[in-house]
Amino acid sequence: TFTTVSNLSNLLNVRYEKLTERLSEMGFEELSYNFILDQETAGLIADEYGFEVNFGEENEGFDLKPNDNIPEKLLKPRPPIVTIMGHVDHGKTTILDYLRKSSIVAGEHGGITQHIGAFSVKTPLSKKLITFLDTPGHAAFLKMRERGAVMTDIVVLVVAADDSVMPQTKEAIKHIKKSGVSLIIAVNKCDKENSDPEKVIADLAANGIDVEDYGGETQTVRVSGLTGLNMDKLEESIITLSEILDLKASSDKKTAVEGWIIESQFKKGMGPLATVLIRQGSLRNGDIIVSGKTYAKVRSMKDEAGKVVKVATPATPIEVWGWKDLPEAGDVVLQAKDEKQAKETIETRTLREERKNQSKDIEIMNKLRLDEKKETEKRAKIEELKKYGLAKDDVTTDESTEAEATGPIIVNYIVKSDVSGSSEAIVESIEGLGNDEVKLNILYDGVGSPTDTDLERAEISGATILCFNMKIPKDIDNKAYKKNVKIKTHNVIYHLIEDVTEELSSKLTPTI
Ligand code: GDP
Repeated sequence: TFTTVSNLSNLLNVRYEKLTERLSEMGFEELSYNFILDQETAGLIADEYGFEVNFGEENEGFDLKPNDNIPEKLLKPRPPIVTIMGHVDHGKTTILDYLRKSSIVAGEHGGITQHIGAFSVKTPLSKKLITFLDTPGHAAFLKMRERGAVMTDIVVLVVAADDSVMPQTKEAIKHIKKSGVSLIIAVNKCDKENSDPEKVIADLAANGIDVEDYGGETQTVRVSGLTGLNMDKLEESIITLSEILDLKASSDKKTAVEGWIIESQFKKGMGPLATVLIRQGSLRNGDIIVSGKTYAKVRSMKDEAGKVVKVATPATPIEVWGWKDLPEAGDVVLQAKDEKQAKETIETRTLREERKNQSKDIEIMNKLRLDEKKETEKRAKIEELKKYGLAKDDVTTDESTEAEATGPIIVNYIVKSDVSGSSEAIVESIEGLGNDEVKLNILYDGVGSPTDTDLERAEISGATILCFNMKIPKDIDNKAYKKNVKIKTHNVIYHLIEDVTEELSSKLTPTI
């Protein structure tokens, strides 16, 4: 499905120079005989020269899409979906635990809540529902944000009154502003003697939050997750805000189900399970839902108390049985008419991904080829100079000229990290490493644990896969070992930089 420039020039019977001229016009740089073109570009050029291009099956195929035009009259108020964010140790878990427990005490469930990634509570005063997400690290939340969609309506930003605004608080503020979700501040640990809520408020204002205390719109509640102080007030503030936001969804039978995967896991004896948070429609047993490249014929549904649910409505989190494969947290869920439609959708998505991978591979191969070409040219030049006695004969005794003679050693890396934010940070911090003798080259960076494709690319390019903040799946680890591909994992950026620096210096020829 791809071809080189020289190949295309032969095929079309067009002179190489003419072809590269046209390609340059199209924005391609550093062209060479073996520069690889993807199907689309090759097709476009062939077409210009009057050739009919036949790529075989080219149509995109069927794919499910969310419905943006749900009739107004079907839309009814729905519970808000809330995420708790904040600096480590400021009390996120404590607050979530308090909320979860209080809902059991209220006699709503009468069961022991299980961790399914989200839970609903009924507020003590207004008796309204709120859905809280409690995914560890809020991976799903961040993944959604990355894709430009937001599954959360409201973020409760927890700031400890004895510690005030900290780096992760600022990070969260950045995320919140970017995604445009609504915000409520919970000043936590107000039971503590050394607490200073006023300082927290002032610090937040200094960080661009328009706190109500200073006449702004952002509600602030002084709470204690430990003693429960003002936790009912926090819940009521969420309800007040959600009413202002006028959150609505359709639970009508005619509305196709839409939602998100909050969490997924493989349970022994039960197969793949996933927590689905419904956005539109109501989900029932027997319904077919697609997520990513897998689907489920819903076998049964349970809420966080382990109670069987017959119909799941908007903003309700439920654990769903019946998946063919494990869906991914953060992925969108869409209802299909039948299994045939679900399979068609998955086929289309698989094909699209393969195509995307192919163009990525082409990019990498061109980059590697170019590096090789430059190195060969450099070497040839030096040889030529030597022949004419223009390069010193004693080059090998001089370190600096030796490096020049062979060109810098290129060390290739592929960066994979938990969220795109950290990916950017890593690339930025290691990009400049190296010197004239050894250079670092980042082939690409991406989000999520290493895949088979990453391994293949690392194998062709001899790259090391640098992973940040993630566990490497066992099978990938085994395959990497067999392919002799190095995978390195770190949780601290500083350590990662140190490690890369060490590897780069180890490539230098020792100067004794
Ligand atoms: P997280 O990292 O944000 O989830 O923070 P945790 O909920 O794990 O809380 C960190 C520590 O602060 C724990 O030892 C909690 O017991 C304590 N803590 C949390 N909330 C409060 C509070 O309101 N008052 C007091 N005194 N301690 C709290």
